[in-house]
Amino acid sequence: MTDRAPVTEELNPHRIARIQFDLAAPYVRETEDWDGISETLFEPDRVVSVNLPVVMDDGRVRVFRGFRVLHSDTRGPGKGGIRYHPQTDEDEVKALATWMSWKCAVLDVPFGGAKGGVECDPRILSKAEKRAITRRFIAALGDNIGPHTDIPAPDVYTDAQTMAWIFDTYSMMHPGENNLAIVTGKPLDLGGIPGRADATARGALMCTEHFLEIGGMPGVYSLAGLTVAIQGFGNAGRFAATLFRDAGAVIVAVSDSRGGVYNPDGLDVAAVEAHKDETGSVVGTPGTQPLERLAVLEVPCDILIPAALESQITRENAPRIQCRLIVEAANGPVTPAADRILAERDIKVLPDILANAGGVVVSYFEWVQNLDNAQWEEHDVHAKLRKKMHRSTEQVVTQRLTLAEAYDFYQDRWAALYPDAPPLVVADLRIAAHVIAVERCRAALAQRGVWP
Ligand code: NAD
Repeated sequence: MTDRAPVTEELNPHRIARIQFDLAAPYVRETEDWDGISETLFEPDRVVSVNLPVVMDDGRVRVFRGFRVLHSDTRGPGKGGIRYHPQTDEDEVKALATWMSWKCAVLDVPFGGAKGGVECDPRILSKAEKRAITRRFIAALGDNIGPHTDIPAPDVYTDAQTMAWIFDTYSMMHPGENNLAIVTGKPLDLGGIPGRADATARGALMCTEHFLEIGGMPGVYSLAGLTVAIQGFGNAGRFAATLFRDAGAVIVAVSDSRGGVYNPDGLDVAAVEAHKDETGSVVGTPGTQPLERLAVLEVPCDILIPAALESQITRENAPRIQCRLIVEAANGPVTPAADRILAERDIKVLPDILANAGGVVVSYFEWVQNLDNAQWEEHDVHAKLRKKMHRSTEQVVTQRLTLAEAYDFYQDRWAALYPDAPPLVVADLRIAAHVIAVERCRAALAQRGVWP
């Protein structure tokens, strides 16, 4: 029994992406035909959906559904991961592709946004079945992907091995060409770049450290001694645990799809990793207290890092979040309703389209390396990533301060001046990052013109 009122809020990721876009829109430079331009900027360029018949290990044929969305190629070829998850669908992939466009624009990498997904549960598939799904998916997409049109990468439940199969399949379909740039996040032996594996977490670390250095949390200027809780223990979450620990933070809680573990004095991250490798889950690591799956979000800590899926922090649990800063390693983990509650509670959020952009930045380096037939050094990757993360963090913080002034100046007159425009909402860091992104995409579109 619960005495809480039932919660109704928008949880469809694509409609959430639209709400976020609309909150930023009033702050983006007006054009006479803003309605048409905003539809051009928001709606995806292309949505491909395919059915994938696959012979399973038991000899039976199962059909999987796959999607690839090119949200925008206005600023460059589409870029975005491929997710294998039982709950993925077209709207989720559309939202993730949209956020990729904004992310590439915030970091100023010359890509548009794209994303892919296959509705399947890789946790119960054999390696041969995963390989067959991947090959069939890439074959079915045909020339909807390509090194100069739309370039995949890893996302939830896909990894360097999956990227190797993508490269191999595409190469079989395009013999005699250097196809390495068709996909990023590849193994090092196959054109991958050093530093890609932990790039998402390292970028989140660089963003967080710089946010603190420049005064984002007054009185706290480094990670030393800060407590951190992390939801998700895969590529983003696991590397975040080791990198934030190495930077001086104390990791007090982590979780995965089966549950979480907690130690208020600090987890032994190496022991958690060993337990995960041995048993498939962090749950039950010796010397830890067990946590329910969502309880990891509510433990007392300085920094909370959601690194799993969308819509984890909602209107329902936002009032119980006990951190001072949220660093979105995942895409879309905080809903718009939760954003407003967190803002009222003075909990800051480093938004996904900034905080987890390290992955796409280093993917961009890998793509350049492949096109050049070159080999980059890891220290160069880190130095260039740091420069991009620091600069973009400063730009988003500065943009938020500028928008706060604009809000103070306009708020009383906004509705009277622009009765048909969306309401002016005081800007948080997410709105600020969206304003930068949408304005950069709008400017590129204006310079190119709407074809023909
Ligand atoms: P992953 O497959 O490597 O790991 C996902 C982790 O989340 C696993 O530990 C899994 O057990 C856990 N998980 C799944 N469902 C959960 C649930 N309901 N509650 C708690 N934990 C759950 O995936 P990843 O690449 O680390 O991606 C995680 C997030 O980071 C996603 O939102 C993804 O879009 C985002 N992201 C990833 C990259 C990248 O380069 N891999 C880049 C940017 C953003």
